[in-house]
Amino acid sequence: MENYAIYQKYKEAKEFGYNLREIFERDPHDILNFCKRKEYPVISYRRGLGTADMLGYLDMCTINFAFTVNVADDDDAVDDYYIFFRHDLRVPRLKFALCHELGHILQGDVWRGSASLCNRDPQRGDRLMENAANICAAYALDAKGYLDGNDTPEYLCEICGIGLSSAEYLQKLIKALNDAQKQRYFDRPIPLFQECQG
Ligand SMILES: [Zn+2]
Repeated sequence: MENYAIYQKYKEAKEFGYNLREIFERDPHDILNFCKRKEYPVISYRRGLGTADMLGYLDMCTINFAFTVNVADDDDAVDDYYIFFRHDLRVPRLKFALCHELGHILQGDVWRGSASLCNRDPQRGDRLMENAANICAAYALDAKGYLDGNDTPEYLCEICGIGLSSAEYLQKLIKALNDAQKQRYFDRPIPLFQECQG
């Protein structure tokens, strides 16, 4: 994919993350209430295995912290999402997993009749779409507004509930995006972007 297209995808993810953060700041029960208002059922694996099985996505439960299914078909006026999540996650990791899925939904990644692909700890080699969803989630949870210059991997560990190596990767990715945005260079490869364009 073109460098500029990758940049656009990440920048859009960041903007969606900002929007979510503003909504969550006003509402202490934030993420779940947001999903309810949007009419996205949010279902734990404990409660939702039968539903996941019925939809044909039972195997997604074993490999993902969360995933989204778009159950709409061509005749429906609007998209129709179910979000499933692992019930034994700690609260920060659960919030990060759910915001990752909201990132996919907001970016239109989950097509009708399909599911989001992957929800795991951020790591080198992640696909473009997954990096974008992680960027969106990190910004959604950045209550202190540190991600535009004052962030550290430790801060990302804290707000996202992820391990240090994942946080280091995500921090570098966010820094690459912010550097590109500040310096406005898009005509030459941005190193970290090119590793993960698949
Ligand atoms: Zn994903």
